[in-house]
Amino acid sequence: MNTFDKTLSIIVPCYNEEESVPLFYAETIKQEAFFHEKGVELEFVFVNDGSKDKTVQVVKELREKDERVHLVSFSRNFGKEAAIYAGFQKAKGDFVVLMDADLQDPPALLPEMYGYIESGYDSVATRRVNRKGEPPIRSFFARRFYGLMRKISTTEIVDGARDYRMMTRQVRDAILSMTEYNRFSKGIFGWVGFDTKWLEYENIQRAAGETKWSFWKLFKYSIEGIMAFSTVPLMISLVLGITFDILGFGFLLFFIISAAVSGFNAFNGGTIVSSVVFIGGIILTCMGILGLYTSKLYLEVKNRPVYLVKEEF
Ligand code: UDP
Ligand code: MG
Repeated sequence: MNTFDKTLSIIVPCYNEEESVPLFYAETIKQEAFFHEKGVELEFVFVNDGSKDKTVQVVKELREKDERVHLVSFSRNFGKEAAIYAGFQKAKGDFVVLMDADLQDPPALLPEMYGYIESGYDSVATRRVNRKGEPPIRSFFARRFYGLMRKISTTEIVDGARDYRMMTRQVRDAILSMTEYNRFSKGIFGWVGFDTKWLEYENIQRAAGETKWSFWKLFKYSIEGIMAFSTVPLMISLVLGITFDILGFGFLLFFIISAAVSGFNAFNGGTIVSSVVFIGGIILTCMGILGLYTSKLYLEVKNRPVYLVKEEF
């Protein structure tokens, strides 16, 4: 019997991944020898995010063969962010690594990642250098999103960054200390800081099953990201307001003077209707922005749990 003085927890959020989980396990366990040689034991933490398929059963089957397999199973689908949070809480390891179940995060990279942790980095993050195999429209909007985030957020959010990350327990604790309800991990990882090594790799297609992200889900996710890590949209409302104040005052002066000088009257139905509609639109947009932040605030204040557990082992 070997004794290990360190543990690496592998956290895997799963939503309808009955096909991927066994493949994932088989592929990842291949790295076991490397870690055992380093005196590091592995621990698997599968988080079942309310799957409608046999994901739980598949994880239980793994557990029968391997005691190091753990499960947190949610009462319903709470989203990947909640699953990540639950996984971090459950992980007992001295190091933790976050991986997708679909093998888009290559396990073969684990030894290299661990190498950097050993050499003193607090965390090792990955980004894909291209978006091969992704619909062009999706890549286009993803790029715009990251471009925008760079401009309006002080927290670094890296384009192409995956959630595939290895980190020390200290970083894991830092992430868990952020108890917000609206969790945007890509921002949270950047916000906590620490020395991070970035590794790059080419995009890999998922091993089985299909992506859980529809275009609409991604759109909502990006709004989530903006709301969680930037207040610039509120500033934009303010700037718009001031700009239109000045413009309106200029128009007023122009109309008074031109009416006095030449008797010209610009107040016809057309100008009035268009300006009312235009200003109305701006006001509603600004209220919408304000409303979005208020709704986030509302959810935070309610202090609901990030997830609910149905069973775990
Ligand atoms: N996932 C999850 N909850 C969800 C959606 C996804 O736990 O509501 C998991 C999913 O099972 C996978 C990972 O998050 O392990 C990434 O999902 P996916 O592969 O669908 O996203 P993509 O790689 O296409 O961005
Ligand atoms: Mg995937």
